[in-house]
Amino acid sequence: MNSNITALVRQNIQSLVPYASARDEYKGNEGVFLDANENPFGLTNRYPDPYQKELKQVIADIKNIDAANLFLGNGSDEAIDLAYRIFCEPKQDKALAFTPTYGMYEVYANINNVDLYTLPLNDLFQIDKASLTPYLQDNSIKLMFICSPNNPTGNVIATETIEWILANFKGIVIVDEAYIDFSNSVSWTQRLGDYPNLIILQTLSKGWGMAGLRIGMAVMNQEVLQYFNKVKSPYNISQINQMEAIKVLSDTAAFDQRIALLNQEKARVIEELNAMAMTKRIYPSDANFILVEVTNANAVYSQLIDKQIIVRNRHSVVPNTLRISIGTPTENTQLINTLKQIDNEKESIIYR
Ligand SMILES: *Cc1c(COP(=O)(O)O)cnc(C)c1O
Repeated sequence: MNSNITALVRQNIQSLVPYASARDEYKGNEGVFLDANENPFGLTNRYPDPYQKELKQVIADIKNIDAANLFLGNGSDEAIDLAYRIFCEPKQDKALAFTPTYGMYEVYANINNVDLYTLPLNDLFQIDKASLTPYLQDNSIKLMFICSPNNPTGNVIATETIEWILANFKGIVIVDEAYIDFSNSVSWTQRLGDYPNLIILQTLSKGWGMAGLRIGMAVMNQEVLQYFNKVKSPYNISQINQMEAIKVLSDTAAFDQRIALLNQEKARVIEELNAMAMTKRIYPSDANFILVEVTNANAVYSQLIDKQIIVRNRHSVVPNTLRISIGTPTENTQLINTLKQIDNEKESIIYR
């Protein structure tokens, strides 16, 4: 046991006796099952596997990781919430994130009554080491969130910076790789063995196109995983969702094709946007969206809404930016044509 990890865990979680479900006590597959108060009739009458063993093995094979390091949640959002509940004593411990970034780190901090420190990313949306340095030795900070590729900016955080954080920060480092399937960068899951305090989040929601199923992954050291398994609800992923995920995951060729298509479409959208007068800047993206700075984001946003094209207005977090997800080729063409119309109205409000 690595006692450094256990020392980070809240006292009540350390001493928690996990709920033992019927499926925990008898693990066999054959027999007359009269132990879980299930109804013997119906198609989804049985409780699902609480540890999702079959699905985990499929994911582990695809991701080149060990299934024994894998936690599955009701979306990776569940893993974010559990991390707060496991490591952060409300009103006492802290967490830290780099902004602008994914909003749920803050939402779950608030729900769990934990203060979240936020440090701004620099001009290139990278972590500023100098401003982070004083926080590295703060023992009240239990969690550090690093989103890479980052949402909403799209860029990958430099490997060397994350290595530096892992070498110098003794709390839990959570690298959120929700968009890793669109990136050529190597996943941090391949470095798990080097860092007992590292947790990597991934999801079936984005690259795999299963946002409706709510299945997220967290890859972690087995000692940390023990606590996640203790704290999670016993049957956190439904039978139907486990089965559907296994089915979709079996077609890796279709997955590869869609990723290639979306990356190709992203390049096309970028090229078209670059030719428009309203476009000030397109930030580099390793994800299935781009962050675009335009002359007047609020005006472009509302003109797109008038044409029933909905993008995300990020003006409040990065001035005059829109975050645009890459859609089907037809949807992207609709977006481009509409933007061209808006762009060509030279007297338009978008230039004011
Ligand atoms: C979409 C997203 C998630 C959420 O993933 P779910 O598995 O759908 O909960 C997590 N992190 C980031 C950065 C995201 O953009």
